[in-house]
Amino acid sequence: MLIPRLIERKRDGLALTGDEWRTLIKAYVAEQVPDYQMSALAMAVVWRGLEPGELAALTDAMLHSGATLDFGGWTTPRVDKHSIGGVGDKTSLLLAPMVACCGVAVPMISGRGLGHTGGTLDKLEAIPGFNTRLSLDEAIAQVKQLGLVMLGQTPEICPADKKLYSLRDVTGTVESIPLISASIMSKKLAEGLTGLVLDIKTGSGAFITDPAQSQVLAKTMIGIGEASGCKTVALLTAMDRPLGVACGNALEVIESLEGLQGRGPADLIEVTYALAVEMLIVAGVETDRGAARRRLEETITSGKALQMFARMTEAQGGDPRVVSDYSLLATAPVKREFRSVQDGVVSEVRPRKIGHAIIALGGGRSKTEDTIDPSVGFLISAKPGDRVRRGDVLAVIHARTEADAERANTALDEAIVIGRSAAPLPLVSHRVTAQGVTTLSS
Ligand code: URA
Repeated sequence: MLIPRLIERKRDGLALTGDEWRTLIKAYVAEQVPDYQMSALAMAVVWRGLEPGELAALTDAMLHSGATLDFGGWTTPRVDKHSIGGVGDKTSLLLAPMVACCGVAVPMISGRGLGHTGGTLDKLEAIPGFNTRLSLDEAIAQVKQLGLVMLGQTPEICPADKKLYSLRDVTGTVESIPLISASIMSKKLAEGLTGLVLDIKTGSGAFITDPAQSQVLAKTMIGIGEASGCKTVALLTAMDRPLGVACGNALEVIESLEGLQGRGPADLIEVTYALAVEMLIVAGVETDRGAARRRLEETITSGKALQMFARMTEAQGGDPRVVSDYSLLATAPVKREFRSVQDGVVSEVRPRKIGHAIIALGGGRSKTEDTIDPSVGFLISAKPGDRVRRGDVLAVIHARTEADAERANTALDEAIVIGRSAAPLPLVSHRVTAQGVTTLSS
């Protein structure tokens, strides 16, 4: 196979065959295709896209480049939720134990922060001792025993995506609907799922900012999931402001634990229930959304979801007392209030700025080898549409030093915009299924 000819064909808008994609991915994993050729091809895909047959072949080749979670004849439904990435998005920490309490197994393989977005693994690792690096056998055993595991992508799962994703990250080729779809769906299908719920973030803080393109992404991923026998639905949710109040790893763990005790911020709880309800529906354990919601609410009021989180934490090496003793989590030495300098309406809380400010505080990575300080971040109580007076506290900065807090203060000046009005996106705007798109709120 002559790689330059494949690149030229894709560059000129022609399709490669399924066999060509499969052979190419195999050769790439075997180090027989240099990164410069693969990045040229990825850039050609960014511009030219993939035809459905090419997308199916690429996803399949990436999925089968490594091992998969094999549950044998185990009949319990297995469902995961995957978010495209956001700021303050800690829904996984809430809904995974809630759904696991409803008789649905949740084998959740999550990622780390990417660009300005936070990652579930980084949040979980804010809990001292919490081990997200389980082997596939350990993960399967824990799911069968507890109904829930939350781990990172192991080296055995989709090595082709691991390699290609790192290349895309540094060659300007992340923002492509077929490449994102193949990347995410190959990893999700490797989890041995019977159902999948996608949280497609839209708005200025999402990777795909245009709501119309978000629907295309949702439909593309659903097409891949359904073709593989995994029932897949998507909700389009707002990422034009952070979700919840806490942004930063340990702060987000605390907010999640508060949510599991019925005390979470309204926006976080609304998105969590919306996604968790879909999980019970795709799992087939509920057919009615109202009944699903009531069943999930009961996991909170009974304390069972919190208990499930504690059991998972213990099973994965963390201290389960964290669910009632937040002092076990790291705390930042400097806390500084950020106040409004004028009367008005909060018109924007810009998630990208917040995400980048968390990285600058030490709470995220700008290079893969960076270590994270889990204690830092923001508690941002201001929400678009809030009427505020001069001197009102809009946020609290958690920083390692006064100098860091000063820089974070400047970032908040740019991130929180006070004006005369606000037009935030609806929190949960659409449901997308194989059958079509339903508008939930506009
Ligand atoms: N997350 C992934 O895993 N892959 C992408 O391509 C984008 C986001």
